[in-house]
Amino acid sequence: MTRFHAAQALLPGGWARDVAIEADAAGIITSVDPGTVSAGDAERLFGHVVPGVPNIHSHAFQRAMAGAAERRSPAGRDSFWTWRETMYRFVARLTPDDAEAVAAQLQVECLEHGFTQLTEFHYLHHRPDGTPYADRAEMALRHLAAAAETGIGLTLLPSLYRHGGIFGADPAPGQRPFLNDPDGFRAILDRCATAMRDHPHANLGIAPHSLRAVTPAMLDALSDHPGPIHIHAAEQVREVEECVSATGARPVEWLLANAPLDARWCLIHATHMTPAEAAALARSGATVGLCPTTEASLGDGIFDLPTYREAGGAIAIGTDSHVGTAPREELRLLETAQRLRLHARSVAAGDDAPHPGRALLGAVLAGGARASGAPVGAIAPGCRCDLVELDDGHPTLAGHAGDALLDAWVFSGQENPLRTTVVAGRALVRDGRHAARDAVAARYRETVRRLLA
Ligand code: ZN
Repeated sequence: MTRFHAAQALLPGGWARDVAIEADAAGIITSVDPGTVSAGDAERLFGHVVPGVPNIHSHAFQRAMAGAAERRSPAGRDSFWTWRETMYRFVARLTPDDAEAVAAQLQVECLEHGFTQLTEFHYLHHRPDGTPYADRAEMALRHLAAAAETGIGLTLLPSLYRHGGIFGADPAPGQRPFLNDPDGFRAILDRCATAMRDHPHANLGIAPHSLRAVTPAMLDALSDHPGPIHIHAAEQVREVEECVSATGARPVEWLLANAPLDARWCLIHATHMTPAEAAALARSGATVGLCPTTEASLGDGIFDLPTYREAGGAIAIGTDSHVGTAPREELRLLETAQRLRLHARSVAAGDDAPHPGRALLGAVLAGGARASGAPVGAIAPGCRCDLVELDDGHPTLAGHAGDALLDAWVFSGQENPLRTTVVAGRALVRDGRHAARDAVAARYRETVRRLLA
């Protein structure tokens, strides 16, 4: 039994004071009691405590590319597509040891900023020439190994990537490390399922990479999976145009008509939707996985948040290429991009939720729990005991309380006013530092210097 006592905690019904939180040996919350004046032997959390935030989209290896893919290419006209060429060259150097070192660094940064569950959309399966490792799931399993070291919850989504364009185009040479046929993909899934038994805070889903990478028949064969099922969709204008010319439908429109979209599904980005697509996707029960700092970095476009939210659509956030690794940064850009687009303020807020920081956090906790398929996103019995303590004495948050403090967290300052991160009842981050920060960073430095040399 683990006990915490939070001076202020954000519960499903709102903020509460003097909250006693108990978790069992598996790290699952067994009781939540507001108004418990005596802390007893519980670990005291003196700040504002919110649920750990699910990060629903990661390609961990790209953390080592962050900042290294900005230089203008000789031909100019840089875009998502020229960035992708840089990424292909980068993965040609990455060994399994490198992938694990980079993943651990990413996970530590995520934990120190308040993410407690990471959904790894994993498509870098093979050696640079495309030959599988002796263990076909070697690269996937390195993410589990990193998570065992850092303590983060992990949703592992092995990705099926077979083609290089809609539908069934030949892959490019740079895509060889990603490619599997359905049998090879199934072997990776089975191997990961077996390995999961030793990782109590990990779960398994699948990720057909995109409509560029699989055929309708492959997608159909995967559609009976219990989930989570994640797929990239409608990230780039060119992708939408190619889909229209190949199928007569836009990517989200095609998925709505041809895939059994429901709460198991998470469409990553969905940047380019018509209002009709947004309304239909919201009705389907699927989640949209938004990655604002990456979408900005890659020049994807701006998601039409008000139209989708007014239709009741579920959202979650991820850090994707990891140019940012903090929930506050994703939420800030999600809202401020709308402000720039619409010449308005407090776009995510509503009549019943006047604070955009609270409205956005609430939305991505609920959507993130659904998209990750893990028992996270709330401080409530039955949920995993994932807690984030914000330091309300930090200059960024001082003078604020409750929902206004969440606004201050999301929309102001550059420092990290986080004191404690708990995953499954274990405090992994104390005083803002992960216990393994120095060892993980030393390994990462050695790795990234070699990779970028
Ligand atoms: Zn992605």
